[in-house]
Amino acid sequence: MIGKGLLIVISGPSGAGKGTICRELLKNNPQIRISISATTRKPRAGEEDGVNYHFITEDKFRQMIDEHEFLEYAVVYDNYYGTPERYVMNNLQNGNDVLLEIDIVGALQIKKKFRDAVFIFILPPSLGELRNRIVNRGTESPPDIEKRYDAAVSEIKQVMKYDYAIVNDNISKAIQDIEAIIRAEKCRVLRNYKEILSRF
Ligand code: 5GP
Repeated sequence: MIGKGLLIVISGPSGAGKGTICRELLKNNPQIRISISATTRKPRAGEEDGVNYHFITEDKFRQMIDEHEFLEYAVVYDNYYGTPERYVMNNLQNGNDVLLEIDIVGALQIKKKFRDAVFIFILPPSLGELRNRIVNRGTESPPDIEKRYDAAVSEIKQVMKYDYAIVNDNISKAIQDIEAIIRAEKCRVLRNYKEILSRF
């Protein structure tokens, strides 16, 4: 693809493995940038401000909403999460691909603004495995585990709103599948016809 980068939206329930997939994708693909979201959630052990998220107060978050600094935002599990606009737009303009790891509510907002973004949904191998992963991660309290599990079941029912579904039963295969999607998307005639017609 020539010129602008690709905007890639990745969603899926807690425990589907989105975080690991995104980290691995970044390692192998230097043209991909990940957008760091702002959130009012408290950092978990090991999480760093400016690396995993921009951890901010609710007042600051509301101020950013008022100043139109978000491309999208949503309330997820009682906390605000949002994608700061400037970083994404600058990188797309510079020809980098930008990855957003966001929930379905946010993804639908992006769909309205960017008709050419690519929407990928990551699925766990099964619901039993999903519960095991949320429990074994050890980062959530028992009520939060239930909240995330129940949310996962209803989120999966919305998979039809996405362009691609990846079952994450093997991390390296899941990454290869996403790399294949990105390569194919970049060859779409609709993304390239202006440049092609200007050259030939
Ligand atoms: P966690 O608290 O586990 O890091 O994330 C909880 C949920 O919030 C995940 O489904 C994640 O994809 C979503 N999320 C993270 N950042 C954003 C964001 O900027 N916008 C939206 N809409 N959702 C986000």
